Amino acid sequence: MELDVLSESLDRLAEMDPSALADTESIVGLYRDLARIEAIVTEATAAFDAAGNFVPDGALTAVAWVTTRCRVPRRQARAQVRRGRELRFLPECARAWANGEITGAHVDVMISLRGPETEAALARDEAMLVDQARKLTFAHFTRAAAYWKQLADPDGADQEAERRRARRDVYLVPSFGGSWLGAINLDPLDGTIVSEELDRLEHQLFEADRAEAREVLGRDPGPGDRLARTPGQRRADALVEMAIRSKSTPHNARKPAPLFTVLVGWETVHGRICELENGTVVPPGSLLPWLDRADLERAVFAPGRRIEISPTTRLFTGATRRAIEVRDRQCTHPFCEVTAPYCHSDHIQPWALGGPTTQENGRLLCPSHNGRRNERPPPAAAA
Ligand SMILES: [Zn+2]
Repeated sequence: MELDVLSESLDRLAEMDPSALADTESIVGLYRDLARIEAIVTEATAAFDAAGNFVPDGALTAVAWVTTRCRVPRRQARAQVRRGRELRFLPECARAWANGEITGAHVDVMISLRGPETEAALARDEAMLVDQARKLTFAHFTRAAAYWKQLADPDGADQEAERRRARRDVYLVPSFGGSWLGAINLDPLDGTIVSEELDRLEHQLFEADRAEAREVLGRDPGPGDRLARTPGQRRADALVEMAIRSKSTPHNARKPAPLFTVLVGWETVHGRICELENGTVVPPGSLLPWLDRADLERAVFAPGRRIEISPTTRLFTGATRRAIEVRDRQCTHPFCEVTAPYCHSDHIQPWALGGPTTQENGRLLCPSHNGRRNERPPPAAAA
């Protein structure tokens, strides 16, 4: 009966022109309702599983029944049943999900925190973590959750890091036609070193492709204009370039430094910090093998005025630029995730209006948002 009411409402929505739901408020509302329905489906599946209602049809498990009758991938059915079972141990999480305040993805993160070593701490901290899930962006929430897990079970974090590192693997083999196919599995540190260099080279090729398109079009290429290469093709070319440069570098060449940036310490101001510049949380132990090889860069964040530099300089350079990069780490526009190497350091109060070139008056903005910074500010709710 209740389901009929829901189906009728959905029928009415489906008959509408979708553009009537294209405003910001409706989109937020739709995502909230999607999360609520997902929560209800999960709880119902858990009850179905517990009651054994799949048995009369001869199915051996609830997963097998849902996979067949609801025609969903087995993985999805398994995830749904597992979520339902685990949710019994996470009452705050279940409530917030049912209210549409958090999503299934948040619930999966919460479930991943639960283990024999963390169970008691999670029962204590569940409400606090769910509150973080309500407020933070998903990326920041997963980071907070990773820190929480490290603190709740430091040994487990080190073991997990070792297991991850043991799984490292590169697979590159010639296929039938002679093309090479492959896959890569690297731990957070190795992966950061490789992917940052790959991104850096790809970005150079991207700029080259854009310059070429600008020449042909006589204007800046927009999102609808095709560049000479796809992002995948540029990454492939960048990888080949890495091989060529490696082969042409003498063995005794000085290694570039730093190979990666890790933020550690800082406890007194912001709580425990140990993460890569891209935001990946790593257990402190995983840094040990690098300490004899990596050059260490030390950035100390202190309240108030931090790194001294002549405030009459027009451009952010040196330590000030670096401090802003390490602090902001990505474009500071709330809807943007462009990382520091591709951002400009911008004056919050414009230099022309007397804004000083200091850390406090600096922020990272990607080229797009830097170019649009005089437009109306983003809504405060998103910040
Ligand atoms: Zn941006």
